[in-house]
Amino acid sequence: MIFAKHAKLPDGWARDVRITVSSGAISEIERNHTAQTGDVVVDTLLPALGNLHCHSFQRAMAGMTEYRKAGKDSFWTWRDLMYRFTAHLTPEQIEAIAAFVFLEMQEAGYASVGEFHYIHHQPGGTPYDDLSELSSRIASAAATTGIGLTHLPVLYTYGGAGQVALEPGQARFGNDVSRFNRLVEGARKAVAALPEDCRVGIAPHSLRATSPEDLAEVLGAHPSGPKHIHIAEQPKEVADISSWLGARPVEWLLENVDVTKDWCLIHATHMTDTETRDMAMSGAVAGLCPITEANLGDGPFNGPVYLEAGGAFGVGSDSNVLISLTEELRTLEYSQRLRDLARNVMVVAEGSVGEALYCGAARGGAQALGRGRGEIAVGELADLVAIDSTDPALCALPTHQVLDGLVFAAKDKVVTDLWSAGRHAVRSGRHVRRDDIVAGYRSAMDTLMAAL
Ligand code: ZN
Repeated sequence: MIFAKHAKLPDGWARDVRITVSSGAISEIERNHTAQTGDVVVDTLLPALGNLHCHSFQRAMAGMTEYRKAGKDSFWTWRDLMYRFTAHLTPEQIEAIAAFVFLEMQEAGYASVGEFHYIHHQPGGTPYDDLSELSSRIASAAATTGIGLTHLPVLYTYGGAGQVALEPGQARFGNDVSRFNRLVEGARKAVAALPEDCRVGIAPHSLRATSPEDLAEVLGAHPSGPKHIHIAEQPKEVADISSWLGARPVEWLLENVDVTKDWCLIHATHMTDTETRDMAMSGAVAGLCPITEANLGDGPFNGPVYLEAGGAFGVGSDSNVLISLTEELRTLEYSQRLRDLARNVMVVAEGSVGEALYCGAARGGAQALGRGRGEIAVGELADLVAIDSTDPALCALPTHQVLDGLVFAAKDKVVTDLWSAGRHAVRSGRHVRRDDIVAGYRSAMDTLMAAL
């Protein structure tokens, strides 16, 4: 049982709330109750966010690409370094890095993660004896940390728009549709060993890494479950897709594929207003990764038009250059303010920006990861986070402004407890397996850096 002095319920803030969790889900919510012996007592309870887009291995190269070379800095040179880095990663290192990343997410207040997983094979491109070896490693990292995993094996067949052959740096990623389908089957077996809330979706990497025919085939083979795709991150990508397929990426996808609530369009950054409204109406989630999008110089999302049209959104940490829930949400809002020379942008008409961002991302993250509605309600997964509203960053705020304080004024250290589908992974601000997992990460980084 969890007893919260304050809790954000779907109909508003409630006091003295006692929550019963059984089999990973919320089975009872009692208001105006008293704490009972044995209850975990917390200050302020919120639905925990899902981190809907992550390439966990990239955490290990954080800080290594912030050096300007004359005339060379761009997204595409960042990608070149990422390819050199991936040439050396071992399965053991991939697992250790993922476990550390998942721990950091849980300590920051994320209960679940969408691992957009595209390293599948050995360096050079030969498959492992077990085709889905590296999916199993991600599943093991989820088991170690207790995070709610939505594993998204990536279909990556071509090196660029127009079915260009893979580059050597992409050899570990490549599969045709039939081998990909076998890989997904193996990933499903690995994830079946995890708690029931964990699941497998699919992720065609991007329109440039697949073809219209392959996309239709793979969607036909996996009709249900989450479907994620990188859609319009960089202007070059929009130009390449437009000249190849005769339409901009979001425009093409909406016209040619049945995009529904099962879909999450990652980095829907470069959209016309028409694309923005059409995407909002499709019911798909916009998978925004504001820290990474700022770090890579991608550009800001078309927030006002999208929200006005009722679009769903969530956040992800993508490259994991920094894992911080509070900073992810505030970067999203600040990117809008800097572009529009305005304040309080990511809310329709009137209201708390912190609440609109936090609760919107909770709903959209849960939708994108197949984890329900992202609310504290009976029948929903017990993806819960507790924060300390007596922290100096929040102590002066009345309850109805606590989410504004969390998003704009606090650091992630206000998180005291985190449950992933009822698994109590963070207590007193610390992951219960922190020491082992950090030691494993340090040792993996020692061997990796020696090999680079
Ligand atoms: Zn990504």
